[in-house]
Amino acid sequence: MMATDIVKPRMLINGELVEASDGKTFSVYNPATRQKSAEVPEASADDTNRAVSSAKAAFPGWSALDPSVRGSYLGKLAALIRQNNDELAKLEAISMGLPVSSFHHAKSAALQFEHYAEAWPHVQGQASVNTPGHVAMTLRQPYGVVALIIPWNAPIHFFASKAAPALITGNTVVLKSSEKAPLGVARVAELVNEAGFPPGVFNILSGHGLPSGQILSRHMDVRALSFTGSSRTGKLIQEEAARTNLKRVILELGGKSPAIIFHDANLKKAVEQTQFSIQVNSGQVCMANSRIYVQKNVARVFVEAFKQRFAAVKDGDPLSKEVNHGPQADEVQYKTVMSYIEQGTKSGGTLVQGGRGKRESTSGFFVEPTVFVDTPEDARIMKEEVFGPVVNINTFETEAEVIAKANDTEYGLYAAVYTRDINRALRVAKALESGYVGVNCTSPLTGRDLPFGGYKGSGQGREGFLYSMDNFLETKSVIIQIDDA
Ligand code: NAD
Repeated sequence: MMATDIVKPRMLINGELVEASDGKTFSVYNPATRQKSAEVPEASADDTNRAVSSAKAAFPGWSALDPSVRGSYLGKLAALIRQNNDELAKLEAISMGLPVSSFHHAKSAALQFEHYAEAWPHVQGQASVNTPGHVAMTLRQPYGVVALIIPWNAPIHFFASKAAPALITGNTVVLKSSEKAPLGVARVAELVNEAGFPPGVFNILSGHGLPSGQILSRHMDVRALSFTGSSRTGKLIQEEAARTNLKRVILELGGKSPAIIFHDANLKKAVEQTQFSIQVNSGQVCMANSRIYVQKNVARVFVEAFKQRFAAVKDGDPLSKEVNHGPQADEVQYKTVMSYIEQGTKSGGTLVQGGRGKRESTSGFFVEPTVFVDTPEDARIMKEEVFGPVVNINTFETEAEVIAKANDTEYGLYAAVYTRDINRALRVAKALESGYVGVNCTSPLTGRDLPFGGYKGSGQGREGFLYSMDNFLETKSVIIQIDDA
């Protein structure tokens, strides 16, 4: 693939790589150059319905297979994804601007498929003799057709972390990629085909929320839907599910994650890690620590060191291995981030670094690493997800004060606390309203076998190696009466 080639991906429906039924496409532009990268099929209502009906038709056969056979398809796909790592990195770079130097999604996706390929023995119910005269048991069984709707900020990773557990448990899948970053997923659709999954088992659509995402949310034959994306869309999906067939909905949504730095923390480490958290993927990470609270007596030192590191990032062509700061994913994201920066400056906070968009000087949607200090707690930029390389650093004096500030948000995805005092660390970890807490570490670090998911408006349900299969399994109780001898 040359940098100037226009990519022409297709969708995978019922085992065939296809254009949209009505021939409709949408354009994807490289956000670093604003040149067109691809013409992508826009799934029509017919395409979406056909994907669901072929998944429904494939369900009886797929769910009846020996699970180790299902696992063998997952294993083949994992190997193909690993082999195509470099091409996938390029496709993500030219669609959503992720620097190839930060691309680890193919490895993490392959790991997901490898793990779940072997995880089927854990799908088990329970048995009991607690009802006299009876033996009772539970069976864990697949839902049938499940829909998976993913965002653009780590597409191949989310593709795998949802599809692998859904498939190994015997469900058939219709996955929709994000309109902002459909290219890597579309290449993986070709690999799914190459891996030889039976037709209809694994369908992959490209397109916008309307029509295909909405149709999946409403579809009476879709029995579970796992979504990662914004809280706004998550609520719409939940509403559609409630209005139609009450399908099971799993939601991984946005965040406004706080990191708390006490005076006794290892400040050097806290600066390095909190800076990386808000900078990686140009701040387009659900769990990025976008609010940092530093104890007053060390705040000046912290802010100076933070600014120095943040300013040192290298922006430029995401295809260059030296670059670690890409553009925002597209013009919409760029404009949103710039408008939050403008609001931030009007809100009473002080802009101490960055703040400028570089679209005019670079022709790409680059935003300077930006730091505000002393922003009023009720400012929109303190409450809403910016999804850019923009951080608010505020100060605090007491533990109680900072816990109240950290929790004063509708989000609750990830929080961090830095201190050398173990008692304080655990008190604060316990008090934080957040699905994840890092102690002397912060996002994007996660423990491999821990559940991931949000408190409050950050979502419902949990994902992870030990948890995701549960999202795609019904529980049936069976009670058996035993006749007297
Ligand atoms: P988004 O909500 O705009 O879009 C996500 C997906 O939903 C896309 O595929 C989109 O086409 C689809 N969609 C849009 N409207 C729809 C509708 N009405 N019905 C059904 N589907 C619809 O989110 P995004 O901008 O792609 O992703 C960024 C957001 O995702 C951020 O808020 C981020 O915090 C969140 N996110 C959360 C996690 C997590 O694990 N909690 C991880 C990554 C990203």
